[in-house]
Amino acid sequence: MSQVGDQGTLYVISAPSGAGKTSLVAAMLKADSKLGVSVSHTTRPMRSGEQDGVNYHFVERELFEAMIARGDFLEHADVFGNYYGTSQVWVRETLASGQDVILEIDWQGAEQVRRLMPECVSIFIVPPSPEVLRERLTGRGTDAPDVVERRLAEASEECRHALAFDYLVVNDQFDEALADLLAIVRAQRSRMAVQQYRHQALLAGLSD
Ligand code: GDP
Ligand code: ADP
Ligand code: 5GP
Repeated sequence: MSQVGDQGTLYVISAPSGAGKTSLVAAMLKADSKLGVSVSHTTRPMRSGEQDGVNYHFVERELFEAMIARGDFLEHADVFGNYYGTSQVWVRETLASGQDVILEIDWQGAEQVRRLMPECVSIFIVPPSPEVLRERLTGRGTDAPDVVERRLAEASEECRHALAFDYLVVNDQFDEALADLLAIVRAQRSRMAVQQYRHQALLAGLSD
């Protein structure tokens, strides 16, 4: 569905916490106005500097559970003891409008989305080493030491699922990782399955 001409493409991006996925996705959006990112719902507490409706829709557990029961989520998962979920309606409507959509979700969510939308393009981001991951998570300064430890402990579990993804990007030099991600998007847009609809008249004219 997501690769057919007039539909946007769905990109699923996962990474261990602290690998740089949020910073890289923000840079992708800045570089390419045709990309949009889904704002997830979460029950985790807001970090300083975060804004409701921008980084996440921050909701109470009761509301999140009611939303699960209503079928509001395309996928949802329990990550580090908090719920995270992707809005079904927003993703489907945005793809239908022709816009490409990025989901920044954990491996459990990625698995669910791959089953529901097998045409999605999935990308796994890793840091250059476990030591660098620790430095980035600590250096970000947004999480308490026990939260950082929990996220580091979960990192190896997340990475065990890397092989299920279509692409692997190593975030060592930020600009190189960004260029790799933008190259994946560009290649995706050149696929015949997409281009044959966009350039129907051109192909027909050239084939006469
Ligand atoms: P960060 O990755 O360190 O920035 O931490 P976050 O608190 O932003 O995200 C925590 C985890 O939840 C990450 O593994 C995300 O990929 C995942 N996550 C975020 N939003 C969603 C979502 O809508 N669905 C699912 N399944 N996972 C999500
Ligand atoms: P995630 O969303 O995967 O948890 P973030 O985007 O919050 O990761 O990045 C974690 C920290 O690492 C942030 O402080 C960010 O500025 C920093 N960072 C990200 N990529 C790089 C990189 N290539 N080199 C150095 N620092 C980086
Ligand atoms: P953080 O709490 O640091 O913002 O995010 C922690 C993890 O939750 C990240 O790995 C992020 O990818 C994941 N995450 C964020 N939103 C969602 C979501 O909507 N669904 C799923 N499955 N994971 C999410």
